[in-house]
Amino acid sequence: MTIILVRGQHVITMNAQREVLTEAAVAIENSRIIAIDNFEKLCVSHPDSVIEGNPRAVITPGMINGHQHLTGDRLIRSMIPDTIDSQEAIFGWAVPTHSKHTERDDYLSAVLALNEALCHGITTTVEAGTVGHPSSVLKAQLAMGTRGTLGSWGWDVEDGPFAGTVSEVLDRQREVMRLTADTPLIDGWVTLVGHDLMSDELVTSASQLARDNNTRITFHISPSSGDTTSYLARTGKHPVRHLYDLGVLGNHVLLAHAVHLNDDEIDCVVETDTAVAVCPWAYLRLAQGITAAGRHDDMLKRGVRMSLGCDSENAGDAVDPIRNAALFAGLIRDRRMDPTIMSAVDALALHTIDAARAIGMADRIGSLEVGKQADLVVFGTDGPEWLTRSTQPVLQLIWASSGSAVDDVYVAGKAVVRAKKSTQITGSAFTDIVAEAQERMTFLSGR
Ligand SMILES: [Zn+2]
Repeated sequence: MTIILVRGQHVITMNAQREVLTEAAVAIENSRIIAIDNFEKLCVSHPDSVIEGNPRAVITPGMINGHQHLTGDRLIRSMIPDTIDSQEAIFGWAVPTHSKHTERDDYLSAVLALNEALCHGITTTVEAGTVGHPSSVLKAQLAMGTRGTLGSWGWDVEDGPFAGTVSEVLDRQREVMRLTADTPLIDGWVTLVGHDLMSDELVTSASQLARDNNTRITFHISPSSGDTTSYLARTGKHPVRHLYDLGVLGNHVLLAHAVHLNDDEIDCVVETDTAVAVCPWAYLRLAQGITAAGRHDDMLKRGVRMSLGCDSENAGDAVDPIRNAALFAGLIRDRRMDPTIMSAVDALALHTIDAARAIGMADRIGSLEVGKQADLVVFGTDGPEWLTRSTQPVLQLIWASSGSAVDDVYVAGKAVVRAKKSTQITGSAFTDIVAEAQERMTFLSGR
């Protein structure tokens, strides 16, 4: 089997020592990393290898996005006004768009979302759980060659798209497990909408379903203070305390957001080893209060497993892990007025190795290490921000650059992006999808 050497001026491993190798390469055979070393040395030990990357590139592990909606907002991108309240943005715009989505819309939307993710270096996308037609999204995931998870729309509200009884919602989740039984790169997860849009019976049985299937569950909780208000009114308890008392939490749970948590709720997260996906752009875009109330730094200090996420196009807008990591580091540092609290390396970890831990995949992905899956990103350095080269490439990457610098992306050893374009859906097949999505924008947004 051909061995590929992906070379760069810097290889940022994100291994336990956070080693950065200079004039190095990553050797790939089939889907795995078989060596990481000095480029010349690897050329000697693997004389017949194919050489990719380039001598000035920066190589990183594939990025992990812990919370991304692959359907809905993508097809009305940048159409939702930015001067309305978050409830109106979500229930006046996003949810009605989902309800009009056809199977084809889910496919178009997921292809475009994954195209942007992959072209910006995201090799693993955790779908956030608002998919009406999971088989269409799976078709897009397989077509684009991404790694990730799949879920299905899960809520037992009285009125809303894809709503159902507890047993109907659980059946939809079981269908996702069936669809993903033989897809090595796509894991089926149990996904609920969350917030106060799930009954105690639903969230308790869904968490158990994830445990029984040896998989994970994710749902939204407390991005704004609204969930606290409604849980206090219904149960007399704060949301995460209530979920703890129900026995829902555990290391198989990934809470999306967890911004407005009190001390007791943080204790519940820590004690149960529950993970958190945090999407800073969404809170800023929707004005949900991370700068006033966010406690993610406290959770990180206490060892909570955490991943960054980009959320949805009308909340997070850009599906760009580098912009996201820089923003989050800045917020955390500014909140405590302490620059030592989070470095660029720490921020990058929240889209790589720490994110892999949060989603239970650190044995496979998240760092460049021998034996792991060959998910990696080649950042080109032709842009003006790279004209002079720092000896601290992570600082230059996070604070000075963006996902637009990505040239090539590998998932499980396969180049799914080359020269900034998908290798999977190309030419007129791709431009036809873009044109069709553009037409659907007019219909779905109603303007
Ligand atoms: Zn979300």
